[in-house]
Amino acid sequence: MSRKNDPKKVVIDTRVVTAKTDGPVDTYWALRLADVKQALEANNFEVYVADSAKAAGELFLGTILPTLKDAKTVSFGGSRTLVDTGIVEAVRENAALEVIDTFDSSLSREEVLARRRLSLLADVFLTGTNAVTECGKLVNLDMIGNRVGGINYGPNHVVLFIGRNKIVDTVQDAMARIKEYVAPVNAMRLNKNTPCRQTSRCMDCSSPDRICNVWTITEKSFPKGRIRIVLINEEAGY
Ligand code: SF4
Repeated sequence: MSRKNDPKKVVIDTRVVTAKTDGPVDTYWALRLADVKQALEANNFEVYVADSAKAAGELFLGTILPTLKDAKTVSFGGSRTLVDTGIVEAVRENAALEVIDTFDSSLSREEVLARRRLSLLADVFLTGTNAVTECGKLVNLDMIGNRVGGINYGPNHVVLFIGRNKIVDTVQDAMARIKEYVAPVNAMRLNKNTPCRQTSRCMDCSSPDRICNVWTITEKSFPKGRIRIVLINEEAGY
């Protein structure tokens, strides 16, 4: 079947992305995602586009994972979007994979921290990102640093799941988005004892519960293709 006749694909301005074609909003996002995909690829990331978080999960399990021939162990960095893909349950049930399960809610705090350290040695590390810029840079802010640690060093394969709501213009816009919106929402989600949980605004706190401690800007994937990205053509995560 040619791309023109494939209802799952749309050709816009000579760029091809998988996309929903239900109207101007989807057309707008198809164009934006095509631009971001191109910018990320220029920065050595390997990039896919999926129509939904569920489709991103299917893409990972059916297309990406089978290419990771050396993958024996898998682990996770905290990400609402990753959970929404359904991948966590699927890999837990995959007998061929050992899962270093940092999301296991039955673990003690000490056990979780120990697994987060181990996760840096996994073959495959799955998580999301806080913001992605139009020029293809990833911007993240962590409380502990295990998520940004896994993204930037350790596992041979990293796969990030990123909703279209994470796209911003510049690194400055990314940092503003994270401090003004992402961090307060996550503090609320995690029931942290921080002022932003009460006010919805960052107060640059000194709370022991402060979740804003480690910034990273990932300008390129090194080595080329180590970090794969699935852009999701819907709002996903915070
Ligand atoms: S620095 Fe403190 S107040 Fe500001 S967003 Fe982070 S946790 Fe909230």
